[in-house]
Amino acid sequence: MGVVQQVASELGLSSSATEADIAAYCVRKIGAWLDGRPRVQSIAEVQKIVCDRLHLAIVEVRTGADLNRLVSQYTHAGEWVFGYLPADLNDGTYATTYQIKQPQNHSQFGHWVAVIDSRNEEKAARRHFSKWHEIAHLLTMPAERERPYQPEGPDLRALERLMDAVAAQIGFYPPLFDPLLEQRVQGDRELTLGGIERLRVDFCQDASYQATALAAVERASLPCVYLEAAPDPARRTLRTCQVTASVPAWTNGLRISRDTPVPSSSVAALVWNTPAEPGIPAHEVRTEQLSAWRHVDGGTLPRMDARVEARCVRTSWHGCVQALITPTRLRDEWLASLPAVPTPNLPTQAGPVPDPW
Ligand SMILES: [Zn+2]
Repeated sequence: MGVVQQVASELGLSSSATEADIAAYCVRKIGAWLDGRPRVQSIAEVQKIVCDRLHLAIVEVRTGADLNRLVSQYTHAGEWVFGYLPADLNDGTYATTYQIKQPQNHSQFGHWVAVIDSRNEEKAARRHFSKWHEIAHLLTMPAERERPYQPEGPDLRALERLMDAVAAQIGFYPPLFDPLLEQRVQGDRELTLGGIERLRVDFCQDASYQATALAAVERASLPCVYLEAAPDPARRTLRTCQVTASVPAWTNGLRISRDTPVPSSSVAALVWNTPAEPGIPAHEVRTEQLSAWRHVDGGTLPRMDARVEARCVRTSWHGCVQALITPTRLRDEWLASLPAVPTPNLPTQAGPVPDPW
């Protein structure tokens, strides 16, 4: 039995359940916990209620001294497993959750403690997603289990991917995020890289730009594609490393897989090759013909013009191009389907693009 089927069967879902079905189950579970609390308006409030229900404490460590204090506090209280924390939070691990053995002795600890590692910029940028990933492990644990399902080898990687898929939904809890998204997209009459940043600030400043962009584009009513591309030195090309398309883009054939080469004629390649000015990321918008994009199997994207907005992002740990592709004809059709009056009181698109991360 595969990992998704295993988790689905433990939750009482159909044996044909997908990652999306398990994520939807978790959204419903949170919805039931929030039922009767109409005033909940922020993801921080949702997190508090969910953590209370799960008896989960979330602790963020920002420095080595934070980590040492935490280890000392819990091991002195007899929770010896915290002695493994410095080793468990290795380079590739963003967070980990421990079970408190004697919660009756230390009621302030809860039954579970999720430790979020924010000791470097890369991990800190993911802290919102890491919290919801750890919550996902507990949300998908049936009551009869004493600890979350933890397989080994390839199954563990599959489980981690499943938890990421759940976190991408519950961390951008649809009843809160989706109306904000549609207000932004319909108010601006488009989606832009700057619009995604404003959405991130409005929804949750701890969320990363990338996680917000993926959630926004995947759920947008506007036909558009978001991608990130990074250089592949061996093949001397920029290749896509993150891609998501909104449902209307996907159904219109705008399907770009990972590892697709970025055409050298695209503005996405142009911004990557533009010499950087200190503090100002290269940023351009152009209209392009999408059939220049060639899949690895030799096929091309549909023949249509699109607005392509791209900018270059360089952080201490990463360099990539972020791009938003919006086909002109599909956007016109989408605009024609909108109510005549735009949503009021939203700032315009003018002004510099904020910090990309
Ligand atoms: Zn995990």
